[in-house]
Amino acid sequence: MAADEMVGIRGNVSPRRLSRLVLAFAATLITLSGLSLLYVGSIASDEADQQAAVTELKLFENALKDRQSLLARDQLSMARWDRSVKYVVLKFREAFVEDEFVSSLWYDFGQDRTFLVDPGGQIVMTGQEDRVDFTRRTPDPEGDIAAIARKAVERHNANRVAVQGGFSQKQVTSIDVAKIAEFAFAEIDGEPMIVSAMAIVPDDEEVVLPEGAPYIVISAKPIDIELVRDLNSQLDFADVAFGPDAGGKVPLRSASGRVIGSFDWTGAHPGSHIWAVVVPVALFLSCLLALASLFIVRHIRSLSLQLEESEQRNREIALHDPLSGLANRRSFSEALEHAAGKAAASRFAVIAGDLDRFKAINDTWGHAAGDLVIKTVASRLAETVGDDGLVGRIGGDEFVILVNGFSDRARLSLLASRLMSAVGAPITLDNGVTTDVGISLGIAVVPDDATGANAIMATADRALYASKEGGRGRALFAADQSSGAARSASSGASHAA
Ligand code: GH3
Ligand code: MG
Repeated sequence: MAADEMVGIRGNVSPRRLSRLVLAFAATLITLSGLSLLYVGSIASDEADQQAAVTELKLFENALKDRQSLLARDQLSMARWDRSVKYVVLKFREAFVEDEFVSSLWYDFGQDRTFLVDPGGQIVMTGQEDRVDFTRRTPDPEGDIAAIARKAVERHNANRVAVQGGFSQKQVTSIDVAKIAEFAFAEIDGEPMIVSAMAIVPDDEEVVLPEGAPYIVISAKPIDIELVRDLNSQLDFADVAFGPDAGGKVPLRSASGRVIGSFDWTGAHPGSHIWAVVVPVALFLSCLLALASLFIVRHIRSLSLQLEESEQRNREIALHDPLSGLANRRSFSEALEHAAGKAAASRFAVIAGDLDRFKAINDTWGHAAGDLVIKTVASRLAETVGDDGLVGRIGGDEFVILVNGFSDRARLSLLASRLMSAVGAPITLDNGVTTDVGISLGIAVVPDDATGANAIMATADRALYASKEGGRGRALFAADQSSGAARSASSGASHAA
C-alpha cells in the first residue's frame, strides 16, 4: 500500500523536482530561522541599550544628589549652631554674619553664593564669596530664591519640635541631611547653580527658636567646569557635559519651574556587543541548517532515483516476457486492441507462430537448452520484423507478431518466409551441440479476415493450426485456409528437430 502510494507520488514528481522542492523548503526555513535570530538579537540589543540608559540615568541622578548632600552637610555646620540662632535669629548681628557665618561658608567650604531670608520672606543678606551685602530686598515671588525659601520653611515646619521656652528642630545625622535640607537648582545672576537651603536651628538648645517662621540660609555653587569634572571622575561614563539647551538627557528645572539647561553624555550601547555575538551565531546556525538540508536533499534524491529505477523495472516486468524480453501477452493484447481500434483507417496483419516439435529439444537437451532456443528464436523474430511490427511471446513456444508496416499479401508472404528461415537457422547450445527448430505460422489480415482483437487472434490461430495440420514449417493465410484453398507461403520444408 505504502509502496503504491510512493509510486503514485513518484508518478507526478521527478527526483529533480522533488530535490528542488525540498531545497526551496529548506531555504525558506533557513531564511526564517536566520531572520528570527536577527529579530531576537534586535530586541535583545534594544532592551540592553534601554537598560543601560536607565542605569546611567540613575547613576547620574545619584551623583548629582551627592553634590547637593555635600553642599547641605557643609551648610549644616553653620545653620545648626546655637551661635547662629543667637546672632541671626534672635539678634541680627552683621559682624557675626560677615566674619563668621559667610566667611566660614566661603573659606572653609567654598560656597560661592549665600542668602539669608528672614521670617517675613525678605532677603536680609546677599553673600558672594566673602563679600556681604546687607541691603534688604523682597525677592521676586515667582523667582527661584522665593520658591526655595518657601520649601525650606515647609521642610523645617515638618521637623520642628517644641522645647522648653520655644522651638527647635528634630536632630538628624549629616547622612540624613536631605530630610531637613531643600535641594534645588536655580539660575542666580544668569548662572545655573545647585542649591541647598535650610532653617537656622539650635544645636545644644542653650538658645531656642521663637514662635513663627525660621530664618533660612540658602547656599549655591555654580554648575561649572569643576563640577562637571567632578561628576565625570565619579561616574563610569566619561563625556558628561552641561549646556544651556534643554535637549540633553537630564534637563535641569529650577525651583521656579524653568528649564535652565541640561546634562548630556554619549552613553554606552551594550546592544552592539549583542550583535557581535548574534550575527556569527545566526550565520553559523544557517550554515549548519544549509549543510543538513543539502545532506537531506541528496539523500531524498538518491532514494527517489532508486525508486524510479525500481518502478521502471516493475514496468518492464509487467509488460515484458522475462525469458525472451519480448512483449508479453498483456502488452501485446493492448497493442492489438489499439491497432484493432484503428483498423478502418490503417490496415495491419497478425501472424501467430508456434515452434515445431519443440518438446523434443527439451526432452533431448534439457529445459535450459529449450530456454536458450526460445531466447534465440525470440531475438531472431524481433530482428527480422524490425520496425515493421511488434513481436510478443504469449505462451511456452507460442509467438505472435503484429505487422503494422504493411498488409499486402506479397510482403506478408516474404516476411513469413524470412521469419521461417531465420528461426530455422542452426542454434549452438551451451554444450556445443548444434540443433535447429522450425516454426509454423498463421496469418490474419485486418480488417479483411477479421475485426476485433479476439476475432483477429482466433483467426490467426486457426490459420496456424492449419499450418501444423498441413505438416508444419509453413505459413498459411487465414483467407486461404477458410476458403479451403490452402496455400503455403513457403517451400513447406519441415524444421522438425
Ligand atoms: P508442436 O509441433 O505440435 O507444437 O509440438 P511441440 O513439441 O512444440 O509441442 P507444444 O507446442 O504443444 O508444446 C510446447 C512445449 O514447450 C511444452 C513445454 O514443455 C515446452 N515449454 C513451454 N514453456 C517452456 C519454457 O519456458 N521453456 C522451455 N524450455 N520449454 C517450455
Ligand atoms: Mg510447439
